[in-house]
Formats: sequence, C-alpha cells, structure tokens
Amino acid sequence: MALYLHCAICNRKQADGIISGTAWARLELPPGAEVDHPALKGSMFRVCPTCQQRHPDWRESLLASLGLGGSNQARAEAQ
Ligand SMILES: [Zn+2]
Repeated sequence: MALYLHCAICNRKQADGIISGTAWARLELPPGAEVDHPALKGSMFRVCPTCQQRHPDWRESLLASLGLGGSNQARAEAQ
C-alpha cells in the first residue's frame, strides 16, 4: 500500500519517503478534537515545506480554520 503525505493547507499530495517525511511538519490535533478534513490521518495533519515557509504561523492558521484556534489564547483571555 502506497503511503502519501497530504498537505492540510494546499492539499498537495506527495509520496511519503525519508526526505519528504522529515521535511513535512506534523500537527497533532488537541485531545478530543473532532475534525472532518480530507487531509486528516488519525489525529495528525501534515504540512508541506512550501506552506511552512509561506505561512510562518501555519499551526495557528490551520487550527483557526478548523475552529480549534486560540485554545491557549482563550485561556489567557479568561484570566
Ligand atoms: Zn502545502
């Protein structure tokens, strides 16, 4: 079975391998988060190197786009 990486931001797909596997960033969903997204594998998103460079705050942007953003921010605002 061929494995591939699926970028959660640009939807690019690339065959998984030693080089691409380490260059692609991982984003683990927070526990209990339920997300329906074509790029989601288990509770893990992968993001391609291009998108990492283009969006330095890609983690926050991605989480925000999923409606999961700002859990830390919300906690800070509650104090
Ligand atoms: Zn990408």
